[in-house]
Amino acid sequence: MTAKDLDDLYQRMSDRLNQIKRQRSEHDEILSFYAKVLTAQHEAQQETVIPEIDLQEDRFKLKIEEGFPLIERENFPVDRDGTERLFKKLCQISLDENPVLAAAGKTLLETMDSGKTEFAQLIGAVLKNDTEVIESIAKDLEVDTPILQALAKLSLQPSLLATAAAVAQRAALDDWKHEYCPVCGGLPAMAALVGEEGKRQALCSFCGHFWELTRMSCPYCNNTKQEDLRYFYAEGEALYRVHICEKCKGYLKVMDTREGGDLKGLAVDDLATGHLDLLAEEEGYQRKAPRVLGI
Ligand SMILES: [Zn+2]
Ligand SMILES: [Zn+2]
Repeated sequence: MTAKDLDDLYQRMSDRLNQIKRQRSEHDEILSFYAKVLTAQHEAQQETVIPEIDLQEDRFKLKIEEGFPLIERENFPVDRDGTERLFKKLCQISLDENPVLAAAGKTLLETMDSGKTEFAQLIGAVLKNDTEVIESIAKDLEVDTPILQALAKLSLQPSLLATAAAVAQRAALDDWKHEYCPVCGGLPAMAALVGEEGKRQALCSFCGHFWELTRMSCPYCNNTKQEDLRYFYAEGEALYRVHICEKCKGYLKVMDTREGGDLKGLAVDDLATGHLDLLAEEEGYQRKAPRVLGI
């Protein structure tokens, strides 16, 4: 993926968001908020400069063969200044546009301006998914942990996408046959069936990379027993399926692009199908990976 591809990705996410907004007026408020988030991320993406990645192609080849993701989460190169600018912008958008997040947005803007936020520490903890550190920073700043974590993650997204794009361009990832992301090892946030044969493409919950799920198995526990793996639809909604695994009780939402939608806009579909998450949770299944977009 090049810079132009990343532009195209944001354009298609925005298009998909507007399409869903027209079709489902009940999501209007939340989607208007995320439209602003996407615009801010897109602008930040265009200015994002990540430190050079040491692309040792021999090593990459070996890692792919052995099933090791190419870059560990904590080693993702980050445009620190750009991330901080986007974080402040997202706090401002939260304050202006989102009643649920307004208080946290205000508090965070104030602490950022007064220099009280250990921003570098926060970014490091979010990359590592070190919940203990994130919790302690949230407690100090008197904001909810999930909100702080999500705003920081949304701010990191341009760096993560730039890294995934740079890596995917240089390494031959087509031979990857695993249920976790070849770039970062992340689990799928959601998946989509594409093409006539319905190949399954997964969207990485961490770095936003798409890769093909080749095995008919549960992406979370590798269970291949077909009698444990089922899926259900919501009534009158052929576009989405919820795949469930009886062994680990995980579920994965899957969009069938033959029915509509756009693979590149999948992060938005994930956001707009909270009703399916609720349905799956009511049936006793758990979501195993976070959204790319979303609190
Ligand atoms: Zn990834
Ligand atoms: Zn499973």
